[in-house]
Amino acid sequence: MRTQIVAGNWKMNCNLDESLHLLNALKLKDFSKADVEVVIAPPFTNLYPIHQNLNDSSIKISAQNINENEEGAYTGEISPDMLKSVGVEYVIIGHSERRAIYNESDELLAKKVTAALKHDFKIMFCIGEMLDQRKADKHFDVVKEQLEKGLFHLSASEMKQVVIAYEPVWAIGTGETASPEQAQDIHQYIRQVLAEQYNQDVADQTSILYGGSVKPNNAREIFAKKDVDGGLIGGASLDADSFAEIVMSF
Ligand code: PEP
Repeated sequence: MRTQIVAGNWKMNCNLDESLHLLNALKLKDFSKADVEVVIAPPFTNLYPIHQNLNDSSIKISAQNINENEEGAYTGEISPDMLKSVGVEYVIIGHSERRAIYNESDELLAKKVTAALKHDFKIMFCIGEMLDQRKADKHFDVVKEQLEKGLFHLSASEMKQVVIAYEPVWAIGTGETASPEQAQDIHQYIRQVLAEQYNQDVADQTSILYGGSVKPNNAREIFAKKDVDGGLIGGASLDADSFAEIVMSF
């Protein structure tokens, strides 16, 4: 069975005090009833203190980005080894905000994927179409191309480290959500593309998360779909009650 995952992307929110406060609120929740891996992605500055304060919690830590180089003159960047050294297990690569605001190309993302794998991180690789692409019925082609360019240099065994997050850009932070049927259609398609590129085993084993305005009131319906293995949650992950409700929607 595929791993079910609910991950909270805190983006550029929460200073140190706020991060620890949110972590403490999450630690009080009993996630053991849900058969779900719970991951949080705080900002870089708070990764280490969060790791130090996890205690015996099963919550896993993700970075929101990673640099593709080992070390050196890359002012302002954070290397894979730095993330490893502070207890990070997952990295988000290719979030639409990184693609759109910081011009991260498919080619760069492919390098980040390679660097992350070299250091044995699990990867949450984000793909998803923009509104005009959806309206032009291009969403299947868009996600296929993002998969091909960003991930398909990996071997089948390397793909075991990768989780895919399908996040239609028009649904991120907008309050608009893909319908459960729209999510299922494209998740099924992504799995089919994985089967064609690799094999049925890889397709069956890869967790595919949905992201885009998931809230406590819509999570259950979306997560009920057969090819949806969890969610990448932005806004609602900043509130411990909402995030916990989403986790418990499984
Ligand atoms: C995200 O940033 O990955 C995301 C899905 O955000 P939101 O849940 O706020 O739409």
